[in-house]
Amino acid sequence: MGNWEQNVRRVTPYVPGEQPKQENIIKLNTNENPYPPSPALKKAWQQMDLEKMRLYPDPAASELVTAIAETYGVKESQVFAGVGSDDVLAMAFLTFFNSERPILFPDITYSFYDVWAELFRIPYRQIPLNDRFEIIKEDYFAENGGIVFPNPNAPTGVELPVSDIEAIIAANQNTVVIVDEAYVDFGTISVLPLIEKYDNLLVVQTFSKSRSLAGLRIGYAFGSEKLIKYLNDAKYSFNSYTMSRPSVLMGAAVVRDQEYFTETIHKIISTRERMKKELAGLGFVFADSKSNFLFVTHPQYSAKELFAQLKEAGIFVRYFEKPRIDRYLRITVGTDEEMDCLLNFLKEKCTGVFL
Ligand SMILES: *Cc1c(COP(=O)(O)O)cnc(C)c1O
Repeated sequence: MGNWEQNVRRVTPYVPGEQPKQENIIKLNTNENPYPPSPALKKAWQQMDLEKMRLYPDPAASELVTAIAETYGVKESQVFAGVGSDDVLAMAFLTFFNSERPILFPDITYSFYDVWAELFRIPYRQIPLNDRFEIIKEDYFAENGGIVFPNPNAPTGVELPVSDIEAIIAANQNTVVIVDEAYVDFGTISVLPLIEKYDNLLVVQTFSKSRSLAGLRIGYAFGSEKLIKYLNDAKYSFNSYTMSRPSVLMGAAVVRDQEYFTETIHKIISTRERMKKELAGLGFVFADSKSNFLFVTHPQYSAKELFAQLKEAGIFVRYFEKPRIDRYLRITVGTDEEMDCLLNFLKEKCTGVFL
């Protein structure tokens, strides 16, 4: 046996939330949308010409890029599409974070960022959020090789005002700033308009949460033509046919259905606001979430135990055994019925235990 293992690019992989095989569970652990995708999806599926599947797809995913550009009122040359925003973000890390100086991101944030930084050997520095889980803009005025953060942040749900984001971009025009807007549709203002003003800003969004399409894998980014060109150059040097024909066609159809999109978003926001009242009534404490999940703690109850008990009862939520957040549970906003089940469980559980 040789010692080839010394040359392996070793990584500690990202750990996604569990995808349990059982049916009849209440799945509130990976921020999926509880509502089905737009009916436009099925129509596009039925109209698909399967004979064409023998041909490679369009490497530029033009139909999808055009649909996104038209929906958001930008040029096609300002849009990049990928296989989920994880693909878009990974490509952006590879393309834009190429400095000896560390990239900056919050200590409590999307746990894929440090994994990509490790994988690509990008130096990084994690900047602590304050006690209220807020990003402090001045912390990002330090020298850096790039900046990335979600808005609203995950898993906290906390929003950073647009004026603070603009201050961060304005102070860092020599590096690329990536704003990961995976949850922006649930009530936060997008910084998309700022791509006209700052050519170093990349705004990343996804179909996985607000458009109920986690299974199809579509993510996209907006940026200056220059930024998008660099991203495409890297993508074509890595894997040009990333998006399958079905993804391109179905994604294009779904993004054009703004009416269904708006309707489901409103349902989720109203359920979320009701949950805030109900959970506060049970003694839970949480920052004000602008996403499709709530990040909650209870002063008298162990999150780890509650997580296990909920799971036992068929209700899956997310628990991170990590410093600063190991007393918290992240609960995806489901349908009203699912939330009632969760509340009933918590009420029974909580009564006598800590109420
Ligand atoms: C869910 C999520 C993503 C990735 O979603 P995709 O399914 O790959 O589009 C990216 N960033 C954050 C913060 C997320 O929560």
